[in-house]
Formats: sequence, C-alpha cells, structure tokens
Amino acid sequence: MGTPSWNRVEVDRAALRHNFRQVRKLVGPSLGILAVVKADAYGHGLIPAAQSFAEAGATAFGVAEVEEGVCLRQAGITGEIVVMLGVDQGAEEAVAYDLTPVVYTLEAMEALAACAAKGGCRKGVQIKVDVGMGRLGILPRELEPFLAALRRFPNLYLAGIASHFPKADAEGDATTTDQYRLFQELLAGIQGAGDGRISHIANSATLMRYPEMHCDMVRPGISLYGCYPADWLQQTSALDLRPGMRFTTTVLQVKEVPAGQGVSYGHRYVTERPTKLAVLPVGYADGYLRRMTGKAEVLLAGHRAPIRGMICMNACMADVTDIPGVKAGDAAVLLGCQGAGEIRAEEIARWSETINYEILCLFGSCNRQVYYDSEAPATPPVY
Ligand SMILES: *Cc1c(COP(=O)(O)O)cnc(C)c1O
Repeated sequence: MGTPSWNRVEVDRAALRHNFRQVRKLVGPSLGILAVVKADAYGHGLIPAAQSFAEAGATAFGVAEVEEGVCLRQAGITGEIVVMLGVDQGAEEAVAYDLTPVVYTLEAMEALAACAAKGGCRKGVQIKVDVGMGRLGILPRELEPFLAALRRFPNLYLAGIASHFPKADAEGDATTTDQYRLFQELLAGIQGAGDGRISHIANSATLMRYPEMHCDMVRPGISLYGCYPADWLQQTSALDLRPGMRFTTTVLQVKEVPAGQGVSYGHRYVTERPTKLAVLPVGYADGYLRRMTGKAEVLLAGHRAPIRGMICMNACMADVTDIPGVKAGDAAVLLGCQGAGEIRAEEIARWSETINYEILCLFGSCNRQVYYDSEAPATPPVY
C-alpha cells in the first residue's frame, strides 16, 4: 500500500464488540439487534465493523444501499442484511445476495417479485411506514392498500414493518410517544397479515430512553460506535460506551517564533509572546474543518494544545509553548485519548457546529482506517 499517511483513523475492534454487548445487555438476550453499518459503519469501515459486531454476537445488519449489502456478503457476513433505503435497480442483486429490502413503492415490489419468481424463491420484505418522520415510507392510510398489493405477489411475503422517530433524542419531547401509539395502532390493524413478521422502530436514542418501544428488534447505530445520540443522554444512559475511533497525526516540525508573529493564511492569529509551534500535516482535506479555526485543540504528550491561525488544506499549527519536550515525529491526537487527555467527537462537533455522527463519518471517509484490538495489545495495527 506504499508509505502510510501521517494521518490515521484508528479503530478499536474491542470497543465495537464492547458497545454491541452493552446494547445486548440493555435489551435482553432474546431481542433482535440490527447493527446499523451504513455510511461505511459511520466511518469505522463497513467490513471490519460488521465483523467485530458479528464476533460479539450480531446476526443482523442494517445498510443504506444494496451495494453495501453485497460487500458484506462477499466478505463472508452471514445473517440478515436489511437494506434500509430499499431497492431501485438493485432488486436482482437483493435477491441474489439474500438481502432484505425495505419497500415503500409498488414499483420496487413488482421488481422484487419478478426477480424472486425468476429465482424460484419467496422474498421477505419489510414495509417502511412514516408515522411522523417526514422521510422515507408510506403514509399510515396507505398501509392497507399497500399490504393488499403485496398479497397479490405470491413470491413476496411480509417479513417486517418498520418506522423511525424524528425526535427520540429531544429532551422533554412528547411526539415520540404519540408516534409510537400510531405505529402500534397500525400493527394491531394488520393482525395476521404476515406470519412471523417483526416490527421495529428504535434507534439508539429510543432504545436508551424508551424500553417499552423496543418492539421485536432495535436498530442501534451511533451507540455501537461508542457515542451518545445527544449530550444530555450521556448522563442518564444505562449504556457504558467506549469510543471506537481515534484520529491521530504526527508532528512534522516544531519551531520557536517571536511575539508579534502572524500565523497561517491571513495572519488571523498573531502571537502574543514567544511561541513554540508544532506543525501538523492535517487540515480540511482530511476532515479537520476550516471552520474550527480559533476553536480546535489537539493532544500532545497528553496535554491540550490550541490550534493557532487558519486551518489549511493539509496543515495546521498547534501552540505547544506550555508543553515541554514536543518534537518532530511525536504523535498528536485529534480525536480520542492520549495519556490523561481526551478529545471527544462531541467537542469537535461543537467546534464545527455539527453533531458527533457527522464528525465520525467525515474523519472516516477522509482518512486511512487502521484496526487494532485493545484486548489483544500485542497485535500491531492492520492497514
Ligand atoms: C441511521 C439509522 C438508525 C441508527 O440511528 P442511531 O441514531 O445512529 O442509532 C436507525 N434506523 C434508521 C432507519 C436509520 O437510518
């Protein structure tokens, strides 16, 4: 693979296994858990993440698109794979690779039925119903006719009914309860419409806050990666989660500049005292967003160092005046722990005015992911 980049997203497989087991402990031994691995497993790497969850007992996986499901199958992942955005042209592959599509259009149903008939099989599908999210899914009043249409396809059967909450993470919100009631009414209205069909609605926030809404299966995403869906949930949650991702880089150069020295493009920062700067080979091209200028901090030798001046495309400068001994070649931590220091995704999200989910996806998609197992410390990271 050539010379590895100075920047690496380090994923701890043991943390992912631990988080899956935490969710398992919370929901009990028999409930279904759909491990959500869409978006390259929130930046942690689709296949290694799915394998880690499988090692911890996961038997069902949620992806956004057919292509991701095919990748999982080709990597040897068995168990159920639910394609949460459904299939469009992908019906044939969904059948060939034994993926479970979510459906919300007649066209997709027809395409799946035709492919299943061709393959001589019966295909289970899950219907997505929109009880208030205003996103994917048929409307509640469309459910009856949609089910009637489904029954006309002998090669299809109803394997599940799913929905999703828009505000399960919002403190003091009542709409989730109302939407859940509507979901339950819909389910009650279709008793017997599918033998063995399951229902599911709970993302991480829902599974933490509303045990009565676990249904037959929960769909955790962010919690499996060791983050909480909202800051306030961290204090109250029964889940003890471990962040699965670190983002590290290497100091390129350390130098002393005098007071009054402008730093980086535009000289937006000017030193107030003789200052020791550590130049880091990381910038907005690596997901370290320019809008964090003036806010971001990194860890060096376990201590926090503020980033000075504009964050560039592939570089930024940390002020290490107060951290003795920093030199070129030292490891700097942008996300995660170093010594007694820790920078969490939530903090980076605040600097960049977004949510922890986006930070994980961003760092993961911009950088090489490497894997290690903190419960088997002798193994070197795998590129
Ligand atoms: C992404 C997603 C989830 C996981 O949500 P988290 O908040 O990350 O737990 C669950 N269900 C659906 C439909 C999703 O799109």
